[in-house]
Amino acid sequence: MRKLLYLTLSLIAIHVAAQKTYLHCGTLVDVKKLSLLNEVTIIIDGNKIIDIQKGYVAGSANDKIIDLKKQTVMPGLIDMHVHLEEETGPNRYLNGFTLNDADIAFQAAVYAERTLMSGFTAIRDLGGRGVNISLRNAINNNLTKGPRIYTAGKAIASTGGHADPTNNYRKEIMGDPGPKEGVVNGPEDAAKAVRQRYKDGSDLIKITATGGVLSMAKDGSGAQFTEEEIKAIVTTAKDYGFKVAAHAHVAEGMKRAVLGGVSSIEHGTYMTEEVMDLMKQKGTYLVPTIIAGKSSADSAKKPGYYPEIVRAKALVVGNFIQATFAKAYKRGVKIAFGTDAGVYSHGKNWMEFIYMTEAGMPILEAIQCATLNAADLLGDDRIGIIEKDKLADIIAVDGDPTKDITSMSRVKFVMKNGTVYKNN
Ligand SMILES: [Zn+2]
Repeated sequence: MRKLLYLTLSLIAIHVAAQKTYLHCGTLVDVKKLSLLNEVTIIIDGNKIIDIQKGYVAGSANDKIIDLKKQTVMPGLIDMHVHLEEETGPNRYLNGFTLNDADIAFQAAVYAERTLMSGFTAIRDLGGRGVNISLRNAINNNLTKGPRIYTAGKAIASTGGHADPTNNYRKEIMGDPGPKEGVVNGPEDAAKAVRQRYKDGSDLIKITATGGVLSMAKDGSGAQFTEEEIKAIVTTAKDYGFKVAAHAHVAEGMKRAVLGGVSSIEHGTYMTEEVMDLMKQKGTYLVPTIIAGKSSADSAKKPGYYPEIVRAKALVVGNFIQATFAKAYKRGVKIAFGTDAGVYSHGKNWMEFIYMTEAGMPILEAIQCATLNAADLLGDDRIGIIEKDKLADIIAVDGDPTKDITSMSRVKFVMKNGTVYKNN
């Protein structure tokens, strides 16, 4: 009798565990064919998509049906350039001296949840102090809510370069940061910095191949690594299965990075046709971050928002990116969606879609950049598309983004790894 009861209970347990979810999708974006499908059912079991069927299909009485008949359903969006540890504000430069890692972690958890709820089920964190590694682990362990995080940990720069953490400090506290802190000079340092990132638990490498806007340094765009240093980074990164993302504003820095073998150029502000052709030849992606350029130029107009050394750069660099993106797109450079979230407020990532379409890219292609292309650049073929056997990262927006781009801001449904985080 007891045996029978045990058997019954375990059968019930198996049955409950096998509950499937049926998503009834009014419209589904096919990110491969760049088309819309009507009246489709996606079937999810556990964390995977197990089938896609035409029409509205129902399973057994035990299965769950979610009605998305009035929405447009697509793969969870992926932002390839995010900084979850920070958010823009006039205290940005003071924060480095006043915030402890725990303070940053609590903030970052809020930004991560906001990012997920706005439809981004995966992001690349391209640099912080390393709290982003702990945040990734906490999200993976379901301790806090957020997107899948692929993180660079701390970015790598050369001395005085864009990601040197002690730029413009007074001498006593400036010190001489090295590979551990992400500052390298010469190929040996470069290899050590990559290995340190591996030891820290990073998923990829970020380098600042040229100067940048928000660092406390005069040069906003010059080349800051030799090709030899970049090659050492890329070669070492390969040993650990890491891809390398290169922040770059000026053509010479991009050229060295592309020839050195990086996987993506971030921003690409002053990209020349020569660099575009080189990128096409090498298969290097451009991650444009148009919104970052525009919003930092806007912030620069507010008195006292940035220190003077930054303000001057933000006003100049900010507005170039959209025009460069338009040229690179027309010339056929591979593009993956990325916004530099943190340079503007987290959760507004969707606005990049406005800027991409303004520059001539059809919205379905922009969505492809944020799904299929982004997954390709990540090197993770489990996400970025709604297909049998892929992970169930799925979102739905209100209305039809091909008719009204602002529908990308009205995210009504978010599923990550088969779990529903939002269903309005
Ligand atoms: Zn960035």
